[in-house]
Amino acid sequence: MATLSGALIGCGFFAVNQMHAWRDIDGASIVAICDRDPERLRIVGDQFGVARRYTEAEALFDAERLDFVDIATTVASHRPLVEMAAANRVPVICQKPFAPTLADAKAMVAACAKAGVPLMVHENFRWQSPIQAVRAVVDSGAIGTPFFGRISFRSAYDVFSGQPYLATGKRFIIEDLGIHILDIARFLLGDVSSLTARTARINQAIAGEDVATMLMDHVGGAISVVDCSYATRLAVEPFPETLIEIDGSDGTLRLAQGYQFTVTGKNGTTVTDISPPLLPWASRPWHNIQESVLAIQRHWVDCLASGKEPATSGADNLKTFALVEAAYTGAASQQPVRIDDLL
Ligand code: NAD
Repeated sequence: MATLSGALIGCGFFAVNQMHAWRDIDGASIVAICDRDPERLRIVGDQFGVARRYTEAEALFDAERLDFVDIATTVASHRPLVEMAAANRVPVICQKPFAPTLADAKAMVAACAKAGVPLMVHENFRWQSPIQAVRAVVDSGAIGTPFFGRISFRSAYDVFSGQPYLATGKRFIIEDLGIHILDIARFLLGDVSSLTARTARINQAIAGEDVATMLMDHVGGAISVVDCSYATRLAVEPFPETLIEIDGSDGTLRLAQGYQFTVTGKNGTTVTDISPPLLPWASRPWHNIQESVLAIQRHWVDCLASGKEPATSGADNLKTFALVEAAYTGAASQQPVRIDDLL
């Protein structure tokens, strides 16, 4: 396979994982990087041996011939950068959260569609190998037709020291973390028709909500509860594990803390350890997320090579993003929100 030439825009906290993953992928390499902060540009450029460096994205697009661009900046810059990529006819990956609002996200999808440019949102949680293993069991029919799901992420991990901006936004846990968990619920149980939400702020030192509980009706008939908290102190800190319960007509599955996976079907129960691999550049406890970064970037390269639409394309991500908007609207109004009304 010919090697695709890519550029990374945004060389911050999380982008380092993306750079490690690009180094592990045969079909693509990062030939240029961009960050407004010269210090971040220097650190990432030196660490990964990238000589072509830009402080302005316009200059990057003017000077480089790119097969794709990987945007790893924070949300405020996503729309202008995605639209710049579309205007330059460069296929684009954009980190989550895709945009500040659903209206922005729709405009970004439209801009890329009009330019005929592939667009993938870096919505990586569903690419964690334990989550893929859960989906494989659902697809196998071993538990029959799912009628109930609980997708849960509860922790007291200090995410603010690595990502200080998380403490200052009016929106916190649903926009930053809940978006992944809502996406996993869609991945496992299908699209959603309505959502009811409640939120709370337990940590008074931050600006946004740090607890959210959501009840969803899935189009296929299942009901799910998605619950997220950064105010939950447990005996053993589970960060950043997503715990999953699904009940089906013929059995159940449980993904418990420590990646213990129990499946009960018509023929009995199996218990397996489905811990994710610790990649050579990864570090605990982030390793499940780090392996998912490698998996989603590989998927992007496969999609570009084959012309397939990425699983988490911009168009697909609108349906996850709508759940985020619905959760904030519904928590404010204390009313259920119909998802079709948003899309
Ligand atoms: P960060 O602040 O550490 O890094 C962002 C970088 O982008 C900074 O170095 C900043 O100078 C640069 N930047 C901002 N606007 C720019 C522009 N217009 N042009 C060039 N450079 C620009 O943030 P972070 O914690 O690395 O988060 C980045 C994104 O990654 C966020 O959207 C966040 O939600 C997401 N994230 C995703 C995951 C995941 O698992 N998918 C995990 C953590 C963070």
